[in-house]
Amino acid sequence: MRSKLLLKSAEFYKDDCCVQITDYIYLGNIRSASNEHLLCKLKIGSILDLSNADTWAPDAHSLRACSCTLQTAHPRCRLNIGFTDGDGGSMTQFFVKMSKFIDAACERKYGVIVCSHDAVSRAPCAVIQYLMSRQRMSLSQAYDRVMRRWPAVRIHDSLWRSLEDWEKKLYGGETATTTFRRSIADDWA
Ligand SMILES: [Zn+2]
Repeated sequence: MRSKLLLKSAEFYKDDCCVQITDYIYLGNIRSASNEHLLCKLKIGSILDLSNADTWAPDAHSLRACSCTLQTAHPRCRLNIGFTDGDGGSMTQFFVKMSKFIDAACERKYGVIVCSHDAVSRAPCAVIQYLMSRQRMSLSQAYDRVMRRWPAVRIHDSLWRSLEDWEKKLYGGETATTTFRRSIADDWA
Protein backbone atom coordinates (compact mmCIF):
# COMPACT_ATOMS: atom_id res chain seq x y z
CA MET A 1 0.00 0.00 0.00
CA ARG A 2 1.18 3.46 -0.81
CA SER A 3 2.64 5.23 2.21
CA LYS A 4 0.87 8.36 3.36
CA LEU A 5 4.26 10.04 3.32
CA LEU A 6 4.49 9.63 -0.44
CA LEU A 7 2.63 12.46 -2.05
CA LYS A 8 1.16 12.61 -5.51
CA SER A 9 2.97 15.29 -7.49
CA ALA A 10 -0.27 17.29 -7.74
CA GLU A 11 -0.08 17.72 -3.96
CA PHE A 12 3.50 18.97 -4.04
CA TYR A 13 4.13 22.42 -2.64
CA LYS A 14 4.82 25.32 -5.02
CA ASP A 15 5.11 29.08 -4.68
CA ASP A 16 7.05 31.86 -6.45
CA CYS A 17 10.29 31.12 -4.57
CA CYS A 18 10.23 27.40 -3.86
CA VAL A 19 8.93 24.15 -5.30
CA GLN A 20 8.76 20.58 -4.01
CA ILE A 21 10.48 18.02 -6.24
CA THR A 22 10.08 14.78 -4.24
CA ASP A 23 8.59 13.89 -0.86
CA TYR A 24 11.48 15.50 0.98
CA ILE A 25 13.40 17.57 -1.57
CA TYR A 26 12.62 21.21 -2.24
CA LEU A 27 14.24 23.55 -4.74
CA GLY A 28 14.23 27.25 -3.96
CA ASN A 29 15.88 30.62 -4.29
CA ILE A 30 17.74 32.41 -1.56
CA ARG A 31 14.63 34.15 -0.28
CA SER A 32 12.81 30.89 0.40
CA ALA A 33 15.83 29.43 2.19
CA SER A 34 15.88 32.45 4.55
CA ASN A 35 12.16 32.37 5.25
CA GLU A 36 11.84 30.77 8.70
CA HIS A 37 8.07 30.70 8.48
CA LEU A 38 8.18 28.70 5.25
CA LEU A 39 10.98 26.37 6.39
CA CYS A 40 9.01 25.53 9.51
CA LYS A 41 5.75 25.04 7.63
CA LEU A 42 7.41 22.63 5.19
CA LYS A 43 9.27 20.81 7.99
CA ILE A 44 12.61 21.54 6.36
CA GLY A 45 15.46 20.37 8.56
CA SER A 46 18.39 20.86 6.17
CA ILE A 47 19.59 23.56 3.81
CA LEU A 48 21.95 22.82 0.95
CA ASP A 49 23.13 26.31 0.07
CA LEU A 50 24.84 27.01 -3.26
CA SER A 51 24.07 30.72 -3.23
CA ASN A 52 27.51 32.18 -2.41
CA ALA A 53 25.39 34.80 -0.70
CA ASP A 54 28.00 36.87 1.10
CA THR A 55 26.69 40.09 -0.38
CA TRP A 56 23.00 39.33 -0.30
CA ALA A 57 20.87 41.43 2.05
CA PRO A 58 17.67 39.66 3.09
CA ASP A 59 14.46 41.60 2.51
CA ALA A 60 11.39 41.75 4.72
CA HIS A 61 9.72 38.82 2.97
CA SER A 62 12.63 36.47 3.41
CA LEU A 63 13.19 37.49 7.01
CA ARG A 64 9.70 36.40 7.97
CA ALA A 65 9.96 34.83 11.37
CA CYS A 66 8.46 31.52 12.26
CA SER A 67 5.04 31.86 13.85
CA CYS A 68 4.57 28.34 15.14
CA THR A 69 3.99 27.58 18.79
CA LEU A 70 7.38 26.02 19.25
CA GLN A 71 9.19 28.44 21.52
CA THR A 72 12.72 27.26 20.80
CA ALA A 73 14.80 28.05 17.74
CA HIS A 74 14.67 25.44 14.98
CA PRO A 75 18.12 23.98 14.50
CA ARG A 76 18.83 23.08 10.90
CA CYS A 77 21.70 21.30 9.22
CA ARG A 78 23.41 23.43 6.61
CA LEU A 79 25.92 22.64 3.90
CA ASN A 80 27.37 25.60 2.01
CA ILE A 81 28.96 24.79 -1.32
CA GLY A 82 31.02 27.71 -2.60
CA PHE A 83 30.94 27.18 -6.33
CA THR A 84 30.55 29.74 -9.10
CA ASP A 85 29.17 28.56 -12.41
CA GLY A 86 30.98 30.10 -15.32
CA ASP A 87 34.43 29.96 -13.76
CA GLY A 88 35.26 26.89 -15.84
CA GLY A 89 35.49 24.38 -12.96
CA SER A 90 33.49 21.19 -12.71
CA MET A 91 30.75 20.86 -10.14
CA THR A 92 31.02 17.06 -10.19
CA GLN A 93 33.61 17.21 -7.39
CA PHE A 94 30.79 18.20 -5.00
CA PHE A 95 28.09 15.78 -6.19
CA VAL A 96 28.82 12.92 -3.77
CA LYS A 97 29.01 15.26 -0.79
CA MET A 98 25.75 16.94 -1.74
CA SER A 99 23.95 13.63 -2.26
CA LYS A 100 25.07 12.33 1.13
CA PHE A 101 23.77 15.50 2.76
CA ILE A 102 20.39 15.13 1.02
CA ASP A 103 20.28 11.41 1.94
CA ALA A 104 20.79 12.27 5.61
CA ALA A 105 17.86 14.69 5.58
CA CYS A 106 15.57 12.23 3.83
CA GLU A 107 16.52 9.41 6.22
CA ARG A 108 15.47 11.59 9.14
CA LYS A 109 12.19 12.20 7.28
CA TYR A 110 12.74 15.95 7.24
CA GLY A 111 12.65 18.14 4.19
CA VAL A 112 15.80 19.51 2.59
CA ILE A 113 15.84 22.68 0.53
CA VAL A 114 18.44 23.01 -2.19
CA CYS A 115 18.93 26.70 -2.87
CA SER A 116 20.96 29.04 -5.01
CA HIS A 117 20.50 32.76 -5.59
CA ASP A 118 17.69 32.50 -8.14
CA ALA A 119 17.41 28.69 -8.32
CA VAL A 120 17.88 28.72 -12.09
CA SER A 121 21.24 26.99 -12.52
CA ARG A 122 23.26 25.77 -9.54
CA ALA A 123 20.43 24.50 -7.33
CA PRO A 124 18.57 22.74 -10.18
CA CYS A 125 21.90 21.16 -11.21
CA ALA A 126 22.34 19.82 -7.66
CA VAL A 127 18.83 18.35 -7.63
CA ILE A 128 19.20 16.84 -11.11
CA GLN A 129 22.46 15.11 -10.21
CA TYR A 130 20.77 13.71 -7.07
CA LEU A 131 17.88 12.26 -9.08
CA MET A 132 20.41 10.73 -11.48
CA SER A 133 22.56 9.34 -8.67
CA ARG A 134 19.85 7.99 -6.40
CA GLN A 135 16.80 7.39 -8.55
CA ARG A 136 18.65 6.04 -11.58
CA MET A 137 17.25 8.70 -13.87
CA SER A 138 19.02 9.72 -17.03
CA LEU A 139 20.02 13.35 -17.36
CA SER A 140 17.07 14.04 -19.63
CA GLN A 141 14.61 12.32 -17.27
CA ALA A 142 15.91 14.21 -14.24
CA TYR A 143 15.98 17.52 -16.10
CA ASP A 144 12.43 16.95 -17.29
CA ARG A 145 11.23 16.21 -13.75
CA VAL A 146 12.76 19.42 -12.39
CA MET A 147 11.79 21.57 -15.37
CA ARG A 148 8.15 20.53 -15.16
CA ARG A 149 7.99 21.62 -11.53
CA TRP A 150 10.15 24.74 -11.93
CA PRO A 151 10.15 26.07 -15.51
CA ALA A 152 12.58 28.89 -14.66
CA VAL A 153 15.48 26.42 -14.92
CA ARG A 154 18.34 27.71 -17.14
CA ILE A 155 21.38 25.58 -16.46
CA HIS A 156 24.72 27.23 -17.20
CA ASP A 157 26.78 25.60 -19.98
CA SER A 158 29.59 24.59 -17.64
CA LEU A 159 27.10 22.85 -15.33
CA TRP A 160 25.54 21.04 -18.27
CA ARG A 161 28.95 19.64 -19.04
CA SER A 162 29.28 18.55 -15.41
CA LEU A 163 25.93 16.77 -15.62
CA GLU A 164 26.86 15.09 -18.91
CA ASP A 165 30.15 13.93 -17.39
CA TRP A 166 28.22 12.62 -14.40
CA GLU A 167 25.81 10.70 -16.58
CA LYS A 168 28.74 9.02 -18.36
CA LYS A 169 30.32 8.18 -15.01
CA LEU A 170 27.09 6.68 -13.67
CA TYR A 171 25.96 4.82 -16.74
CA GLY A 172 29.08 4.38 -18.83
CA GLY A 173 28.95 5.26 -22.48
CA GLU A 174 25.22 4.89 -22.69
CA THR A 175 22.53 6.64 -20.72
CA ALA A 176 19.80 5.02 -18.66
CA THR A 177 17.44 6.10 -21.40
CA THR A 178 19.26 4.08 -24.06
CA THR A 179 19.57 1.09 -21.70
CA PHE A 180 15.87 1.28 -21.02
CA ARG A 181 15.09 1.45 -24.71
CA ARG A 182 17.24 -1.60 -25.41
CA SER A 183 15.64 -3.64 -22.60
CA ILE A 184 12.24 -2.94 -24.12
CA ALA A 185 13.54 -4.00 -27.54
CA ASP A 186 14.90 -7.23 -25.98
CA ASP A 187 11.50 -7.98 -24.50
CA TRP A 188 10.01 -7.86 -27.96
CA ALA A 189 12.78 -9.82 -29.66
ZN1 LIG B 1 8.39 27.08 13.69
